[in-house]
Amino acid sequence: MTFELLSVGTELLLGSIVNTNAQYLSRRLSELGFNVYYTTVVGDNPERLKAALEIAAKRADAVITTGGLGPTGDDLTKETIAEYCGLKCVMDENSKRRIIERFSRGNMYMPESNFKQAEMPEGCIILQNDNGTAPGAIVETENCKFIMLPGPPLEMKPMFDEQVIPYLENFSDGVIRSRSIRVFGLGESAVDEKLRDLMDNSTNPTVAPYAKTGQVELRITAKADTVDKAKAMLVPMQEKIEKILGDRVYGTGIDNSMENVVVGILRERGLKATCAESCTGGLIAEKITRIPGSSECFDCGYVTYSNVQKADMLGVDCDTLKKYGAVSEQTALEMSRGARARSGADIAVSATGIAGPGGGTAEKPIGLVYISICSKNTHRAFKLKLNGSRENIRERASLHALDLIRRCALGLELKI
Ligand code: ATP
Ligand code: MG
Repeated sequence: MTFELLSVGTELLLGSIVNTNAQYLSRRLSELGFNVYYTTVVGDNPERLKAALEIAAKRADAVITTGGLGPTGDDLTKETIAEYCGLKCVMDENSKRRIIERFSRGNMYMPESNFKQAEMPEGCIILQNDNGTAPGAIVETENCKFIMLPGPPLEMKPMFDEQVIPYLENFSDGVIRSRSIRVFGLGESAVDEKLRDLMDNSTNPTVAPYAKTGQVELRITAKADTVDKAKAMLVPMQEKIEKILGDRVYGTGIDNSMENVVVGILRERGLKATCAESCTGGLIAEKITRIPGSSECFDCGYVTYSNVQKADMLGVDCDTLKKYGAVSEQTALEMSRGARARSGADIAVSATGIAGPGGGTAEKPIGLVYISICSKNTHRAFKLKLNGSRENIRERASLHALDLIRRCALGLELKI
């Protein structure tokens, strides 16, 4: 089976962005034993896109496009391919529902134009987008398969790895199995450095990293002639990675988010957790309660934004607040202690910090966050210096808090 990559986007032609999607797909396909014979770049222009498609469809068995699946007028890939194949685009109710859900979860206003993303070519295979709104699609014609992926790499890569690779297995002379390993507390470059030798020297199975907010996901992919053999090949590679990264690895498997892992550990051990939140504003509690069954390990959390409430709801000493301020190690420690005492939970975490964009000072800059953990045997605080947007800082602070619960519940070294 031969491939052509068709990257759609005027930004690529203007040199405003680098075509990392083509690089990623070329690498992945060659690792899997597929041949890429051409890669093409075309702007957001329907005539030229159609012309490029005609050429690609003639000379490749499969064309993978990236970009142009979004809601705006210049996003034309799906419509152009549907027209080329003589197919109508029809509303896919499931995709529409997922788009509505995604917007309402983020509490965002949804422009009507977003529904355009759920209009899919008749009879296509739909590729769910777990990291954005635009679903991907596969259209099969007699001579060529068109695989349409979104432009943003954070959406494109997992969609390719999780949904396109299993599809391509049908056309490969073997089976492909993969497993993901989740890593927290090490940046992408640190993970890359530690695993560079292993990655460079592995062709089957392969190891590919991709970064998510505050974490790194590693995907091991093995190709063999039977499912059992492919699965068996994953195990030693997973063990090697776990040996190198140690307890920075917190989970394996696609659905193993940090909160999923934490709730699983707490339930398994019959422990309860609570949280005292200032800068994260309930995000830690939200993540925990996202997981079905979390009521077994979570009775309540405290969102104490003002000093008065930190004192009232958690018993933080007014003198501590006056002397050290709300964003301080001392306050974080008293918050976690208070939350544990008042809720009766086994483990309490607290988070207090400056998420920005305003409110930073030289002494206490934006991104300064203190996280504290309190259990029967331990009571400690950690200082974080995070950068990025308000959203990013809050997200990463909440992940650090969850990771500390995980470490505490498992009896691992407490570190950030
Ligand atoms: P959206 O829903 O965000 O509009 P889309 O599927 O329509 O997604 P585009 O509008 O074409 O995709 O591109 C969105 C963004 O994705 C670009 O601004 C760019 O940051 C990134 N992107 C697109 N194509 C590529 C590429 N080939 N390589 C790397 N990044 C890309
Ligand atoms: Mg777009």
